[in-house]
Amino acid sequence: KESRAMKFQRQHMDPDGYPSNNSNYCNQMMRRRNMTEGRCKPVNTFVHEPLVDVQAICLQGNITCKNGQPNCHKSSSSMKITDCRVTSGSKYPNCAYRTSQKERHIIVACEGNPYVPVHFDASV
Ligand code: ATP
Repeated sequence: KESRAMKFQRQHMDPDGYPSNNSNYCNQMMRRRNMTEGRCKPVNTFVHEPLVDVQAICLQGNITCKNGQPNCHKSSSSMKITDCRVTSGSKYPNCAYRTSQKERHIIVACEGNPYVPVHFDASV
């Protein structure tokens, strides 16, 4: 079975994939990473930084997550990310997304031993 850490990497990590003006990036990646099975996942963020740098966010101080748990951590630097948001006219199984590139601090939830990212909480 896929671990929560592996699920995080599948849904949120694309270190080599900064989409230089490719408006199809989210359409392709949301499908390729299996987030368009059963439904179109409405919003999802991909991070274009080395995995070790994203894992290191778990060493930052604890902050409160959106769900009230205390196991969130914010990156000390801004990171290259792409936000994918399903379009209003998108109809499953033809999932259509808007691709927006950003540079933001990201907030992830970490769990386990090793203590690694398991959930993408927000970008700020
Ligand atoms: P992911 O959470 O894997 O990044 P997602 O974008 O599908 O993917 P959401 O639907 O936005 O997740 O959030 C719900 C999921 O996030 C649930 O599986 C929940 O268990 C998990 N989650 C939310 N907050 C935390 C937290 N503080 N620690 C661990 N998991 C969390």
